Amino acid sequence: MPSKSTPRAFRHAPEFRRRLLRWFRRHGRDLPWRRTRNPYHIAVSEFMLQQTQVARVQEYYQAFLARYPTIEALAAARPRAVRESWEGLGYYRRAANLHRLARAVVAEYDGVIPSDPEQLQALPGVGRYTAGAVASFAYERATPVVDTNVARVLRRAFHPRTKVSASHTRLWDTAGRLTPTRGKTAWSFNQALMELGALVCTARIAKCGSCPVRQACKTGRLTSPQPRGPARQRRGRPRRSR
Ligand code: SF4
Repeated sequence: MPSKSTPRAFRHAPEFRRRLLRWFRRHGRDLPWRRTRNPYHIAVSEFMLQQTQVARVQEYYQAFLARYPTIEALAAARPRAVRESWEGLGYYRRAANLHRLARAVVAEYDGVIPSDPEQLQALPGVGRYTAGAVASFAYERATPVVDTNVARVLRRAFHPRTKVSASHTRLWDTAGRLTPTRGKTAWSFNQALMELGALVCTARIAKCGSCPVRQACKTGRLTSPQPRGPARQRRGRPRRSR
């Protein structure tokens, strides 16, 4: 039950979380970076996934890790060799940033990628999203993660009237409010939000009719047909319609 101080926008938040997590347990894809908590492997996957489809990243992820199995191996590589390993994925700036990150972590953190989002954000090529992703997906820290998929879902579910261009800070606040406090559950919740944005609540179409969180989503509730059934007689005063 939401507390009395829960803002109106979030009164369906517990139901949203519950339904989303249940759906993810049944329908979440088995992806190689979801089977590991190795921070270096997670960082590689996150750099690759920036602006590249999951299916394509799957082709390159294992090969890259086979060539550079540790962060020390990557740090010791020549820039040209790293670029060659990235060939076909495009956006080579990501490879250069990942390489610089590896060198910085070896030099400054003895080869251990930090778990603190603020320390992560100080590393080359790491913005707020990647810092949250490494902290959550590698270290199971209860921290929000907002990428374009998550932003879309949160906007449609909780702030459908907010302009896309004006909503960045608001969506991070919303994600922070929704993220479970238990790290392991936060891991699942963040993965599930991204998965919903990738498979159901997509940029091209919001498949509200088959969406697991429809009843807890502002947009979904507006587009759902009202359940039919025999009209019940209400006692007392009728409720005001919203
Ligand atoms: S109900 Fe529709 S708008 Fe809401 S999260 Fe699901 S697909 Fe997106």
